[in-house]
This record gives sequence, C-alpha cells and structure tokens, in this order.
Amino acid sequence: MSETLTPTAPRRLASAPKIGIVSLGCPKALVDSERILTRLRAEGYEVSPTYDGADAVIVNTCGFLDSAKAESLSAIGEALAENGRVIVTGCMGGDEASIRDTHPGVLAVTGPHQYEAVVAAVHEAVPPAPEPFIDLVPEQGIKLTPRHYAYLKISEGCNHRCSFCIIPSLRGDLMSRPAAHVLTEAERLAKAGVKELMVISQDTSAYGLDIGYAASSWRGKERRAHITDLADALGELGIWVRMHYVYPYPHVDDLLPLMAEGKILPYLDIPFQHASPKVLKAMRRPANQEKVLHRIAKWREICPDLAIRSTFIVGFPGETEEDVDFLCDWLKEAELDRVGCFKYEPVEGAAANELEGAVPEEVKQARWERFMQTQQEISAKRLARKVGTMIDVIVDEVDGEGAIARSKADAPEIDGNVFLNGDTDVKPGDIVQVRVEHADEYDLWAIRP
Ligand code: SF4
Repeated sequence: MSETLTPTAPRRLASAPKIGIVSLGCPKALVDSERILTRLRAEGYEVSPTYDGADAVIVNTCGFLDSAKAESLSAIGEALAENGRVIVTGCMGGDEASIRDTHPGVLAVTGPHQYEAVVAAVHEAVPPAPEPFIDLVPEQGIKLTPRHYAYLKISEGCNHRCSFCIIPSLRGDLMSRPAAHVLTEAERLAKAGVKELMVISQDTSAYGLDIGYAASSWRGKERRAHITDLADALGELGIWVRMHYVYPYPHVDDLLPLMAEGKILPYLDIPFQHASPKVLKAMRRPANQEKVLHRIAKWREICPDLAIRSTFIVGFPGETEEDVDFLCDWLKEAELDRVGCFKYEPVEGAAANELEGAVPEEVKQARWERFMQTQQEISAKRLARKVGTMIDVIVDEVDGEGAIARSKADAPEIDGNVFLNGDTDVKPGDIVQVRVEHADEYDLWAIRP
C-alpha cells in the first residue's frame, strides 16, 4: 500500500531513513555537517548521496557574504525542487526571516551549531527507525572529506570584532573544547587511517583563552588547552598537522620551533586582510605590519621551509590607491607563499557598513587584478626555487593518467597541487618523496626518482 505524503507530513519508514546533506561554506561548516551526520548515523539514519534517495535534505548554509547568502538561497531552492523536504541550518539559519521570505516551504530553520535543533527537526520530518543500528557508526565519526585527511575543530566563535565580519554575532564569543576532547578525536581519526589533520576554528591562536587554558589528561599526561601545547601533543600522532586561521598573536612565534622539529607541518594560515595601517585600523585589526615583516623574517630563519598562506580584502571603504601601493609593496617584501584575495562586500549587520568612502565596483576589480598580478609573480618565483629539490607529498587522487598530490605547503581545496604525471603506482593517502621538475605560479610537477 502506498502512502500519500504532503510536503510537511512526517514519514514513517520500514527501512532505515535516509538523509541527504548539502554542505556550503568554509571548512568549519563542513565539520558541523560531519557532526550532524555522525549523530544521525548513531540513531540509525543513513546518508543519501542523491536528492532522489533522501527522505529529507539538510542544507548547511553560509551567511558570511552576500554572495554566499545568494548561493545558500539557491541551494535551498534546488533542494526544494529536487526533494521537497528541506531543513536549513548553518550561519544563514540565524536569519530565518530572509530564508522563509524566499522559500516558505522549508520544514525547519536552525542556526549555526544548533546540532540538537537540527537533529530534532530531522526526527520530526523523518522519525528514526525503531532500532538504531548504533554499530554502523565508524569509531572516528562520519567524515565528508576523503579518508586520508580530516578537519579538527578546536573551538567555536571569536572574541575579535573585525568591522567587516559578523561571525561573532552569528557564532558568539570564543568557546574552546577541552584539550583531551580534541586530542582524543584526533587520535581516533589517526587510528582510522587519517594521515593529515587540518586544525580549524575562527581564531586558532586564541584557543583555550576562555577556559583559562585548563589542562586535561591525555595519554596519561596533563595537556593545557593552549595552542602550543596542543600542537606539541598532536605532533605525537605521527601524522601531518596543519594550522589554519591563526591570528598573529605574539605566542604564534612559539609554534615555529615545533615546525622546525617536524612535529607539525611548516605551514601557517594567517589571514592578514591588509597591510596599510589606516585600512587595518578601520577593519579593527592589529595595525603594525612593519613588525609583522620582521616576525616573518625571523620565522623563516627558525624554519626555512615555512609556507605562509594568507587572505586579503581589497576595496574596503576608505581604501585609496596609496593604500593599495602600500599593500603591494608589503606583499613583495613579505613574499608570502599562498594568497587569496577578496573584493570587499558589505555584509548585512557588519559595522563596516557605517564607514564612508565606498569603493566603486570597477575600482575594486582593478585593485584586485593588480593585487593578484603582484602575488602571481611572487608565487611563481617562490615555486621556481623548488625545481630540482626533493619534497614529501601526500597523494589525493589517482587515475589512469597519474596522481594528484600536495606538498606540505599546500592545504587541500585552497592551495596548489603537485602533479605526478604517469604515476599510477600510488594510492590516496600515500606520502612519497618526489623530485620537482617544473613549476608555474600555482602548481608543481614532479616525479618519483
Ligand atoms: S578574527 Fe576572524 S572571525 Fe573573528 S571577527 Fe575577525 S574576521 Fe571575524
């Protein structure tokens, strides 16, 4: 007998109910999606890779920029059209009214990190099967990333108030996880075959501040909830550990000896955002980039292999051509390895919207092109120095034509690749030594000797 469903009627299913998930936004949102799925799998739900096969679809949205909001609304629309039973969560879920204005048919809207609320909404839409298959959940949880790398979230929220950012109002002030929780999760992931961990948060260097850097026990030793202690402990796992979203506090200097010793990867993702003191002040960010240049030089003395990745914003209100000159000169001096650049977009609710001196779109575009051209030359020069050297790479994908890998200087999704053309004798997750043969401004080509 078939049952007629209205779009909002709960489904009762004989077999395990299936949930689809569309995960938008940053790696932090991806970790939230993984947590939601882990919880649902523990209750007996299955994960559907297609709209068709799902009894309901969760859309984990991003609400950081207006373009991300538009992408989120379109993803919700697509899920409604393809499946019809949609639960919205994530950053944009904090603004239920604008979601419901565009898509009144969504079943529920929950905000960021409201795991309980998302799971409750799923229960309401698709009740769990009577007997949860608890043993179906792998010990390391459900990961949406390939098996050989995973994201490790150490805290939520942020105590800063950068004028262009609404994350603190969406996600609240810093809330750190106890060190033992983080380390136990990392250890499980390593045991399950993960070879590379990306440490993420909104502000990785502030880790533990809110809990007084409280110590907790892991592997029989007390570990402080402090980024240097955490990095040191993660170094015991014998896998690649990569630091993201590091705000440039003075104690970041203490991570460099750990990198030089090989405990964590020689990689720092520090979003500098700008270099001009005037713009940084308007952004409410630390504004002493002269000092930062000295620190970068010192970091490279301690750890010559250090790769620095950063992001910048051009076209911030009040930014002048002189500010962009300053930024490009700073960039040439800093010689960062990997750089992303955004054109400023006013985000609803951000303090920067009150600032005068909006930069016209075509000027933003011209400044962005100038910035990218400057960085491309720097990046090409730095990568060319690697030709002829031996480096370790981790393999991400292999097909009939060869393998795509990454070096220690390349985070997945955001940095470059190392192409091993014709090398099919490796598998994803393998870490192998290669000799670099060729470089362009983003990627390397290498062979195994
Ligand atoms: S440090 Fe990052 S998350 Fe915190 S307010 Fe600034 S931009 Fe936003």
